[in-house]
This record gives sequence, structure tokens and C-alpha cells, in this order.
Amino acid sequence: MSTTSTTVRYLNHINGEWVTAAREEYKDNINPATGEILGHVIQSAPEDVDRAVQAAKAAHKSWRLVPAPERGEYLYRIGQLLKERKEQLARTLTQEMGKVLVEARGEVQEAIDMAFFMAGEGRRLAGQTVPAELPDKHAMSVRAPVGVVGIITPWNFPIAIATWKMFPAIVSGNTVVWKPASDTPAMACEMMKIIEEAGLPKGVVNLVYGSGGTVGNALVEHPDVNVISFTGSSEVGRTIAAKGGQLLKKVSLEMGGKNAIIIMDDADLQLALDGVLWSAFGTTGQRCTACSRLIVHRSVQQEVERELVRRAQALTLGNGLDEHVDVGPVINRSALEQIDKYVQIGQEEGATLLSGGQIAKGELLSKGYFYHPTIFTNVSPTMRIAQEEIFGPVLSIIPVDSFEEAIEVNNAVAYGLSSAIYTNNVNRVFRAMRDLDTGLVYINAGTIGAEIHLPFGGTKHTGNGHRDSGLAALDVFTEWKSIYVDYSGKLQRAQIDNHPKDK
Ligand code: NAD
Repeated sequence: MSTTSTTVRYLNHINGEWVTAAREEYKDNINPATGEILGHVIQSAPEDVDRAVQAAKAAHKSWRLVPAPERGEYLYRIGQLLKERKEQLARTLTQEMGKVLVEARGEVQEAIDMAFFMAGEGRRLAGQTVPAELPDKHAMSVRAPVGVVGIITPWNFPIAIATWKMFPAIVSGNTVVWKPASDTPAMACEMMKIIEEAGLPKGVVNLVYGSGGTVGNALVEHPDVNVISFTGSSEVGRTIAAKGGQLLKKVSLEMGGKNAIIIMDDADLQLALDGVLWSAFGTTGQRCTACSRLIVHRSVQQEVERELVRRAQALTLGNGLDEHVDVGPVINRSALEQIDKYVQIGQEEGATLLSGGQIAKGELLSKGYFYHPTIFTNVSPTMRIAQEEIFGPVLSIIPVDSFEEAIEVNNAVAYGLSSAIYTNNVNRVFRAMRDLDTGLVYINAGTIGAEIHLPFGGTKHTGNGHRDSGLAALDVFTEWKSIYVDYSGKLQRAQIDNHPKDK
């Protein structure tokens, strides 16, 4: 980063240095609540990616040999620095991305939790030691680092998602080149400052700013990048998967969602309403796990709708730095227009608009990108607003007549990130746990609220079988190496010498 009296410039961080790119081109970083320009971010070229990859490749030679507990020590230091700067980081996050301060603090806490969790992994990174089938022979498996990891992250959790990937990658002995989203460069810059201050050796983590099509793509196609860990839309994920497949590269993808909450006739309705409001309009509906479908039993539909509309209309829109604000802006103008387009589609499809459905106006709100929390009802499961990811504060209510129908509707989308059910019937609880086909399932809680020590990710078009978070994340950043040590001093043939009768 470089700062003059009037502007902040976010620069690349390669091999321990803040550096400009091949071309001196910059893009504005805009506060979505106010329209104010926060700084200018360098737009890199493929040669900058190559420079970062070469630095990561060189650093990997020694980093992989640093004992894992010592690698974990760096993460403890990073975690401590994150903790000390939590409030400042949360404020920067709110300014740059728009989520309200209380949620921004929560996001920084996720990064802290992940730092400490993965730091501890430095003393485990467990493999298996198993009996060998032949005498005087030892058999075990260990986790080996993969090499250079390319990390591509979205803007909606600019620090949490980056750390979900970066921390398991480095504790496992890999080095990293990170391309953050173009809308959130300040958080990436803050993270790099902390990494630098924690004393991580040069080149272990490198940051390259720029567009997805240029920088992200160069990272995916680079022959010296062994793993790509991506979080973002299914559309982009699909192109990365195709390129990665062609190059036989390990690619971990966390993508879009169309998450639903089910409210059954026996549910605690007040509890359910709390969960729906928080899941649908928290982070302005821009969480990957945000609830965008409410599947409600017809016998409680009217009551749920009445109360939900009342509560949604009482939410205060505004700048997330103001502690009285409930709902911040969406990320940028194109997101605002996309949300508005889907609201029109919903109306054309015949859904009933109960609340919202408009870009918010007013002296302050017009300066940013605000959309009124929106509720549709009488949505049929096949409508586009019930099938496609909108990624904004738009909730579609789908009435159903039975538990079985609710499960069927929940599962009848291309995505599979998270789902939730409110019911007090224990048999329904266990059937839902078995039959909801998403990577995350919540019982009597909303669709958001994952904790960092369990796997995070989804089925179907949400993922490609890998997981962020928890110990499962280590599978993305390590290769299993099975090792056999024969200390018999003679040739011993597995499957043959231990079956003498077959000889
Ligand atoms: P996006 O797909 O537009 O961008 C994600 C990242 O990919 C950005 O850094 C972008 O610059 C980069 N990129 C774009 N084109 C690329 C290309 N051709 N090659 C390589 N990289 C490229 O997504 P977004 O708008 O930043 O984020 C919103 C999306 O992310 C939503 O679909 C949301 O559901 C998803 N998301 C999923 C999860 C999850 O864990 N499943 C979590 C958060 C967000």
C-alpha cells in the first residue's frame, strides 16, 4: 500500500515487498454506502501473476521444510494481531463492503478463530499409522504439501473466506498467491500488513490485485500453480473447473446457493421468524448461505407473512457504521440493477409482491446502493426467482401442504449449500437431517451461522466435492503420501508372501 495526502493506493505484495504492476493502471475502491472513493487499486497483468508465482515457488523450497508446529506459531501471531485490530478491521470492512458493523466484527472473528484453529493443526496434521500385513514392516500415511496454491476470493466475506483457505494452506507447508475480489482491496491490504508484521518469510503469501478475467485466469492457467481454491459464482467456477480439468490441476470450488428455510405447522413461529429475518436480510441477503426461499406450511402461511412483512418494514437501512442500522447497502451498482431486474421477473412470473421491491431513495440512501428488503409470496418452486441466485435482500415464500412436499421443494434446485427447518416434531427433525440434500443443515436455526471447525461447502452446483473450513480443508491443500518401511532385510512381497498356500 502507498498513501499520499489525498489517495490510498493498494499495491501488490510480492516476495515481501509492496510493488506496482507491469502497467500503472488503477481502479477506484468505492464505499457502497456513500459512493465515496476510498482508494485506488492496481490492475495487474499476467506477468505480475508470474512474478508472484515464481516468488511462491522459490519460498516453497524452504517453507515446506519448516516444522509444522513452527508454521503454526506464525498463525498464532497472525491470530493475535487480528484480535488486537478487530475493531479497526471491522470498520474498514464495513466501509468497503457495506455489511453492518456487528456482522463485520463477526467476520473478523471468523478469521481469528480460523487462525487459532489452524495454528493448533501445526501440532497435529495427523496421518495414519496402521499395521503392515508382513512382518518387520511399518505402514503409515502422511499429509504432504502440494506446492503453490492459487486463492481466488469473493467480496462478500473478504477476510474470512481468504483465511479459510490461506491458513490451512500455509500450515500444511504450501505457499500462496492470492487474488482478492476487485471490490474489496482494502481488507486484502490489511491482511497482508498483518502477515508481514507476523514475520512470515518472504514469498510464503503473495497478493496480486486485478480483474478475474486477467489475474484470476492467469493464476488458474499458470503451470506452476498446483491447486486452485476458489469461492465465487457457479458461472465463474464452471470455467475454472473446465480449465483446471484440462490442466489436471486440483481445483476446489465453493459456489452459489439458493438456500431455503422450511417452517412446519408445529414450529415455534416467533423463533422461526427471528431466524428467517436474520438469514434473509442479514448482510443484505449477500451471504452465500442467505435464505432466499421460505417454504412454509399453508396452515401457518398467513400468520408468517403478516409478521414477516411487519418486521421487514421495521428494518432500518443505512450506513453500516451507524450502530442503529439493520441493513447496509449491496456491493455495487450492477448488483443493485441485477436485484431490481429479478424483482421485475418475479412480478412478470405472477408472484405476489408483499413488501419492498424498490431501490431505496432519500438524500443519504441515494448516494449508495440500497434496496428495500423484499418479500414475494405465492411463488411456485419452478419460477426463476425460486431457482436462480439473486444475491440480495429478496425472499420468495413458497407455500406447501406437507413435510414431504417441503423437502421435495427444498431439494428441487441446482444448488446445495444450506437449508434449515423449524419443527418441534422429533421424527421430522431426523428425517430432515437425512433428506435435505445440502452441505449444511440447520434444525430450529436459520441458514447462516456456520462455525469454522466443521466442513463448509455444498452439494450439486454449489461445490465440486471439496470443503473449506474444518479439518476437511486440509484435504484440499495436502496430498496423501503412503509410506512403507521394510526392516526385514529381505524381499517381502505384499499379497503373496503372506499367503503361502497360494504359491
Ligand atoms: P464472482 O464469481 O464474480 O467472483 C469471485 C472471484 O473470482 C473474484 O475474485 C473474481 O475477480 C474472480 N474471477 C472472476 N472471473 C474469473 C475468471 N474468469 N477466472 C478466475 N477468476 C475469476 O463472485 P462474487 O460476485 O465475487 O461473489 C458472489 C458469489 O460468490 C455468489 O455466487 C455467492 O453465492 C458465492 N459465494 C459462495 C460461497 C460458498 O462458500 N459457497 C461463499 C461466498 C460467496
